[in-house]
Amino acid sequence: MRYPGSAIRLVADLLCPERCAACDALVPPTELLCALCLTATRRLGPPECPGCGVPRTSGSRCGACTLPEAPIRRARAWAAYDGVAHPSPIARAIARFKYHGARRLGRRFAAVLASRVSAPDIALVLPVPLHPRRLRDRGFNQSAVVARHLARSLDRPVALGAVVRTRDTPSQVGRATVATRAANVAGAFTVPRPAAVRGRSVLLVDDVWTSGATARAVALCLRDAGAAAVDVVTIARVL
Ligand SMILES: [Zn+2]
Ligand SMILES: [Zn+2]
Repeated sequence: MRYPGSAIRLVADLLCPERCAACDALVPPTELLCALCLTATRRLGPPECPGCGVPRTSGSRCGACTLPEAPIRRARAWAAYDGVAHPSPIARAIARFKYHGARRLGRRFAAVLASRVSAPDIALVLPVPLHPRRLRDRGFNQSAVVARHLARSLDRPVALGAVVRTRDTPSQVGRATVATRAANVAGAFTVPRPAAVRGRSVLLVDDVWTSGATARAVALCLRDAGAAAVDVVTIARVL
């Protein structure tokens, strides 16, 4: 016998209510954060650079996005990330999601991300891949979990193996310079079946935009494989 998803969710909400992803306060099942954590979160939105989404009072393109070879068409993040000295609620929530196995947060992360996606031509949703070794250590790819939920809400297919990571790279968090980060991920990705992305606009999903080096490296690889456009959406972004 099959039950409609909403009925299963209703029962799950009764048995196991949702908690704030950052502080564990009880929250309604659709909310990612409690009211207090939400107040302490800097959410991103217009006015912003139409290319990379960095806040801009003028709403005009930033210097980096006027470069003709920029491989990313549009990048957006839901919130600002402050993860080192004073972890923001969103930084705490992402750390729980990644390192403490809170996989069930994926649905609510995807729900906040959907508000930052605007691309009617998107044909495929794909996550930034983890190297197989890291995937084994962590047990799951947090970006793939979010991508799957987001694809469902956008009614688009998710392509988990469209890009693969061929080289393991150290974590980007804490790497000193933009140049170091870019060198660190250059050539670390490959598209095994270019026909799967050729001529299509794709949406790349990741958890944190640090310098943008990872997203740019994946986007470059997708564009080389013939993707028509690459948009990026992340939960949070370092400003
Ligand atoms: Zn909270
Ligand atoms: Zn920009």
